[in-house]
Amino acid sequence: MDMLINGTAAPAADESWIDVKNPATGEYIDHVPRGSVADVDAAVDAAEDAFGSWSEKTMRDRGLILSRAADLVRRDHKDLAHLLTREQGKPLRESIDEVRGCANILEYYASIAGQPAGEAVHLGKAGDCLVTRVPLGVCGAIIPWNMPVIIMGWKVGPALLAGNTLVLKPASTTPLTNLRIGRLFLEAGLPAGALNIVTGPGESVGEALVRQARVKKISFTGNCETGHKIQKIAGDQLKALTLELGGSDPMIVMADADIPKAVEGALRGRFYNAGQVCTAVKRLYLHEQIAPEFMHLITVKVEAMKIGNGLLPETDMGPLNSQSQRDRITTVVTDINDREEGKILTGGSPVTGNDYANGFFYQPTLISDVSPDAAVLKKEIFGPVLPMVTVPDLRTAIREANRSRYGLGASVWTRDLSTVKEVFQNVHAGIIWVNRHLTIPPEVPFGGTNESGIGRENGFHALDSYTQTKTLFLGW
Ligand code: NDP
Repeated sequence: MDMLINGTAAPAADESWIDVKNPATGEYIDHVPRGSVADVDAAVDAAEDAFGSWSEKTMRDRGLILSRAADLVRRDHKDLAHLLTREQGKPLRESIDEVRGCANILEYYASIAGQPAGEAVHLGKAGDCLVTRVPLGVCGAIIPWNMPVIIMGWKVGPALLAGNTLVLKPASTTPLTNLRIGRLFLEAGLPAGALNIVTGPGESVGEALVRQARVKKISFTGNCETGHKIQKIAGDQLKALTLELGGSDPMIVMADADIPKAVEGALRGRFYNAGQVCTAVKRLYLHEQIAPEFMHLITVKVEAMKIGNGLLPETDMGPLNSQSQRDRITTVVTDINDREEGKILTGGSPVTGNDYANGFFYQPTLISDVSPDAAVLKKEIFGPVLPMVTVPDLRTAIREANRSRYGLGASVWTRDLSTVKEVFQNVHAGIIWVNRHLTIPPEVPFGGTNESGIGRENGFHALDSYTQTKTLFLGW
């Protein structure tokens, strides 16, 4: 199935299309088809037809196509980044990072083509076994709007390298850059049908993809409630799943930390992409000895941040991606105020003024004096609001860090190796950073524990998850 992108200058005239708008300005960008269940079925037909010839290629040949796709993403990275900023809202330099990050992932998977080996098991007189890994078949990928390009790379890279074909559903507010990259795969030589993109609402198109019995695996990134729905449907069909459902990452800053460096880490960790990152710093635990200094330094930095249209070079932080995301953040801050759960040091409301009137801007917000029992710490705050908790010691910090239903990432800022050991051994998370936060290299597995999901993206772990073993038993 080919990928559709309308490219006309006028909004769609009827309900069979979805308009995509710039969240900074409200400007219409383009429209995409509002797909249907029949479109999902047609995409699965195309993916099934393509599976035979794609899976029969050597992994090295598939890797060469991924490598060419990576080159094309790099060639077009400025245009892609521009489009991503227009539909998603993030500052252009963050879009450039993200687009290059996608190329890095495709390149990484191309580079390991041929490395995965099977096993030979000698069973004495009974015989020998040859254990190989085979692709699953047609897989489905459901992509969110916060990091649509990098997450596309996380799913498409390993799925295609392993020999599967794919049907991908982008988020309805950010389908355009995903569609453009889909076209680049065709230009790179990917056979028609190996990668199919179906646009449309999650409740109909996304759910139809999960329900499609011929889809062998779903890889989903998005919110917990959607993840639970998907798991129920997939469970009835014994469908394989990777679920990346968000987090509420704690950042712990100890008294011996390099404070200016930790302040920079918290700024980037919380306000990158306007806070709309699954592994953003969502709870900050500050040792009481350094808490006043830390809060002073970060407040000065936050108040100096430039909020605006992501296309302007001076912009540090763009808008939230949609009205509903901004409404969620407004509710979070209203609840903090109503319940007297903390003190707003800076920010705390939507940005007003003519330049912001048609966008979904929210001020970067710092909340101090948050009690460890505050309800706000139990949520995933998917926007630019940072609650800060003062703690007397490491043991308290670790206990509080673990009081969350999530377990995606966590960071500790210290110079002391024994602190690192305590945090690594006791904090529940899929990744523990030391003196940094957010970085997710393609080489290492990424994913969470508890309500943050199941399965891993990246590295050989993701590649394995798109395969199953098949054993040849040679009885002599
Ligand atoms: P969703 O989970 O609703 O959306 C993510 C993707 O799933 C989109 O492509 C969406 O399509 C699709 N989808 C929605 N409903 C279904 C369904 N029933 N079956 C299959 N697919 C579906 O996330 P939201 O947009 O509602 O984001 C809300 C919250 O989710 C955020 O505030 C944040 O807490 C969390 N989140 C976490 C992310 C992460 O990286 N971990 C990423 C994004 C969100 P469509 O766009 O058409 O609705």
